[in-house]
Amino acid sequence: MQDMPAWAAQLRDVADFPRPGIVFKDINPLLAHPQARAQALTSMVAPWQRVGIGAVLGVEARGFILGTAMAMQMALPFVPVRKPGKLPGAVVSQHYALEYGSDCIQIQADALPAGTRVLIVDDVLATGGTLAATVALARQLQLEVVGGAVLIELDGLGGRARWPVGVPLHASLVV
Ligand code: IMP
Repeated sequence: MQDMPAWAAQLRDVADFPRPGIVFKDINPLLAHPQARAQALTSMVAPWQRVGIGAVLGVEARGFILGTAMAMQMALPFVPVRKPGKLPGAVVSQHYALEYGSDCIQIQADALPAGTRVLIVDDVLATGGTLAATVALARQLQLEVVGGAVLIELDGLGGRARWPVGVPLHASLVV
């Protein structure tokens, strides 16, 4: 087990959200704490400093916050991956299964040129369905997924197994 980084003290566990039996990792106290937030951001950015990345893809909604912050720190383009109906113009869609039902994410069809090396960012890796769908979405646009970055990986839910073999996936905190 890794030592708890100091910034992790600003995370809050919320029981029975959004459904009974789920313990939700609330990152809002961390976002509201400039010093801890900066430390967390540094740990998310550090592994990618020497990896040639062309753009950051952030997954709605907390992936927008962390992904934009990372993209700003690395002076890279940021591209949002959104829930359906939010993006204007031509979009590409990826449907994926949830525990109950299904969901869909979209990206603008002209967001990035084919071959762009992208880093996918989200706040939490749980079952891995969201990140796996984002990889599939990026690949529909022929983007090259060179990595994934999450603030928190929930161990024991098998999420990492759904991430493509051979592509680095970095979690700043594994719990
Ligand atoms: P997955 O698709 O099961 O890996 O779930 C990941 C998605 O659900 C991410 O977009 C997260 O924002 C969200 N998520 C799942 N569990 C949590 C949590 O405990 N805190 C915050 N977000 C969560």
